[in-house]
Amino acid sequence: MFFARKLSTRTAWSILCRNMSTTNVKNRLKHHNLFRETAIINGKDYSIPETFAVYDPATKALLGECPDLGVEAVDEAIAGASTAFTSFRRTSPVERAALLRRWHEIVMDSIDDLATLITFENGKPFAEAKGEIAYSASFLDWFSGEATRAYGDVLSPSVAHNRAITIKQPIGVCGIITPWNFPAAMITRKIAAAIAAGCTVVVKPDSETPYTALAMAKLAEMIGMPPGVINVITTKTHLAEVGKKLCSDERVKKVSFTGSTNIGKLLMEQSSSTLKKLSFELGGNAPFIVFPDANIEEAVAAAINCKFRGSGQTCVCANRIFVHEDIYDEFSTLLTEKVSKFSVGNGFLSETTYGPLIHDRALAKVEGHVNDAVAKGGKIAVGGVRATEVGENFYMPTVITNATQDMRIATEETFGPVAALFKFSTEAEVIGWANSVDVGLASYVLTTDINRAFRVAEQLDFGMVGVNTGLISDCAVPFGGVKFSGFGREGSKYGMDEYMTVKAITFGGIGARY
Ligand code: NAP
Repeated sequence: MFFARKLSTRTAWSILCRNMSTTNVKNRLKHHNLFRETAIINGKDYSIPETFAVYDPATKALLGECPDLGVEAVDEAIAGASTAFTSFRRTSPVERAALLRRWHEIVMDSIDDLATLITFENGKPFAEAKGEIAYSASFLDWFSGEATRAYGDVLSPSVAHNRAITIKQPIGVCGIITPWNFPAAMITRKIAAAIAAGCTVVVKPDSETPYTALAMAKLAEMIGMPPGVINVITTKTHLAEVGKKLCSDERVKKVSFTGSTNIGKLLMEQSSSTLKKLSFELGGNAPFIVFPDANIEEAVAAAINCKFRGSGQTCVCANRIFVHEDIYDEFSTLLTEKVSKFSVGNGFLSETTYGPLIHDRALAKVEGHVNDAVAKGGKIAVGGVRATEVGENFYMPTVITNATQDMRIATEETFGPVAALFKFSTEAEVIGWANSVDVGLASYVLTTDINRAFRVAEQLDFGMVGVNTGLISDCAVPFGGVKFSGFGREGSKYGMDEYMTVKAITFGGIGARY
């Protein structure tokens, strides 16, 4: 079998990588200074004796250490961001646009180094990591354009001779909390909009993947981002207090969070005493609906794109693949054939198409979903086991047929490389199933019937619908969810509004003498 043939090279690679250390990470970078093991507060490197370790999920090798900061450091970061805001808010949109453009250029110039850091700390294949950097940089470019387009309105109030205008102003210091699955893109999708608006930020990247965020901040510093505009704090054991501090400190005017729904609910509760503006990008459970008139080859390719990217660890990954009964067998046979050819391994190997899961808890969840499905009548068409020969965090890409609504996978986000195929008969039935979950982030419809595409897209309770595509993330398109997937939109012409307030200015007696 294809998987088995590749194992020996990969096993040897895993053993080699287990002996890697910080020096090895640095040595792989063209610019060694992009590997930083210090936080950044007010434009300065910030470290304390207490640190936490960061490991490569593919090999479990130690990559390095980061400061395990507590509330005092967050307080300093907020103070730095507050001071910086007093002058940064007065910079012109053109100046901020120029900063973002220069940052975009240097990020793209450093694409190999940044992608190397992502592959080390997240595990995704190097080519995919480069794709993430390009996607991440696209937000810097996009918001450099948006910075100069924060339009207001001219209004005619109901009182004769009164006139009013609205202006948009930066909200202030923003707390930014991001997950590990897109170590670069989740940072820029938020920060670029905040900076375009004139805000300053205190960022807490995921403790599994802090190095990409720190490198991005270093690049911002190199292109002349003023000190205190971007502060990056790292923490592990003090996470709960740090999160609470960001949510409850009055100087922080907004919190933008991407992560799980449960943590989102906690942060919202903690933010209530200061009535913070919030935007939350939370979990999903995307339906991928294949109608009988779809082009099956294209539908399978789209399913692979959206189900297996990042080894199934993206919030817009298809979680439930609904296939019409007339084409179910053909679709599942073709999908299984393609998935059997995937190459699972260390992200630095050129042949690798899919990397590891982030940690053992992720693996346990995936395994739990697969075992539950099998116990309830699901059939494993391919995969369904750990790839222990490759490394402890690897799971074989899996296709399960005969999936049913009583399985955990039907209601919970798997966040792993498992494609569960559900059979449906009617449009009404599948829309009901698709909408039956409590989250609503991404959804997908595969059909060549334009009327059906519109009809179904409008009935899906999701923030985003992909029609005949498995890739919907784009800086020009608003990204966000409904229900327990959160609120707020990132990217697009709406993204900057999340970091601004609207002020109305009314002028009395305009033209009253005429
Ligand atoms: P998570 O546990 O919620 O972690 C996300 C971030 O929140 C990490 O930085 C984490 O810190 C931090 N965090 C955890 N507890 C906290 C607390 N008490 N106070 C403050 N911060 C806290 O999420 P995850 O399970 O790692 O990530 C996967 C989830 O994110 C999935 O549900 C996925 O769907 C969702 N996601 C959503 C989107 C979207 O755009 N909607 C995008 C990507 C991912 P640590 O570093 O210490 O863990």
